[in-house]
Amino acid sequence: MQSIRNIAIIAHVDHGKTTLVDKIIHVSKIFRENQQFEDLILDSNDLERERGITILSKNVSVRYKGTKINIIDTPGHADFGGEVERVLKMADGVILLVDAFEGPMPQTRFVLGKALALGLRPIVIVNKVDKPNCRPDEVYESVFDLMFNLDATEEQLDFQTLYGSAKENWMGPDWKNPTDSIIPLLDAIVEHIPAPVIEEGTLQMQITSLDYSNFVGRIAIGRVKRGTIKEGSQLSLCKADGVIKKVKVKELHVFEGLGKVRVPEVGAGDICAVTGIEDFEIGDTLADLENPEALKRISIDEPTMN
Ligand code: GDP
Repeated sequence: MQSIRNIAIIAHVDHGKTTLVDKIIHVSKIFRENQQFEDLILDSNDLERERGITILSKNVSVRYKGTKINIIDTPGHADFGGEVERVLKMADGVILLVDAFEGPMPQTRFVLGKALALGLRPIVIVNKVDKPNCRPDEVYESVFDLMFNLDATEEQLDFQTLYGSAKENWMGPDWKNPTDSIIPLLDAIVEHIPAPVIEEGTLQMQITSLDYSNFVGRIAIGRVKRGTIKEGSQLSLCKADGVIKKVKVKELHVFEGLGKVRVPEVGAGDICAVTGIEDFEIGDTLADLENPEALKRISIDEPTMN
């Protein structure tokens, strides 16, 4: 089975998420030489809208030393309808990206609290240490205090911290000694974020986000929890109130770089996009035809911002 890490990035707007993901993609050499792509990749919504495609899920996937790292984008602010929780449920760990001058912002507290409550392992990045007026040590202290106040477990409080500059393309354990790349971050992800826990049993995949394309219609996105999903297979779609519908997988895609690639099957632990399902809602489960066991639906709760 392939080695996978599923991570979500939590960052306040402008703390450097787009720049960081851009650098991660560069370093993992997903792109062939001379291939052109937009600098601010995660902010490409306008472009997509122009093309008539609404990309709600901006997942990115890179390969590093034989491990596939799925990077799940999270809203950096408190929102309604359980979106944050849904997205976080695809991850096994989070990267908390914090500006070395501003420190953690109240708006990311809600998302971080959810991530900790879900048991996700954090890695902290204190970014922008190249700025002359930054205060990385104080920012580290306030991140620690915040996690403590959010009831992080001992294991979560034992988080890895990397300091660096996404802009200058480096991360390391000590902000006073710049390294020459962001590879220490990739190593930290592989080493400190747990691999997906794979359960025994027939297929189960909860649909946690959706995408739409004019060509193929609605696309169901989620993480395969158990079993294997295959192109062309007939499955049960477990809807709310116990309703079960028979559906057929048309096309199956996994994330690769900024795009998707079509694959014949996807195993447990990986995140995929499924077409041909159409009549689904977020929270529904795709399950084995003969064994339609639904996964617990994600509760919808109101965010508390304090
Ligand atoms: P996002 O909103 O979190 O995606 O943030 P961006 O990646 O768009 O960055 C916001 C601004 O901060 C941009 O002007 C970046 O060039 C700048 N920035 C990002 N990382 C760094 C860094 O490490 N150092 C400095 N000085 N600026 C940075």
